[in-house]
Amino acid sequence: MTATVRVCRHCDEPITDPEDAVLVAHELGNSGPGWDIYAHRDHVDLVELIDPVVLRIMARIWTAQVQR
Ligand SMILES: [Zn+2]
Repeated sequence: MTATVRVCRHCDEPITDPEDAVLVAHELGNSGPGWDIYAHRDHVDLVELIDPVVLRIMARIWTAQVQR
């Protein structure tokens, strides 16, 4: 069991300090509970969140491609 590494949504750098990690969103996975999206405290305002509706459509496209 490895520890979950939180990666900043904005700069893609690992967030090593838990105090610096801010939960900005939760994405649903195709199977399973999905995953949480984090960002550095300084980067929260810079994160561009994917619209949930767009994400659902994209997930459907990705799933269709996998099944082909
Ligand atoms: Zn960051």
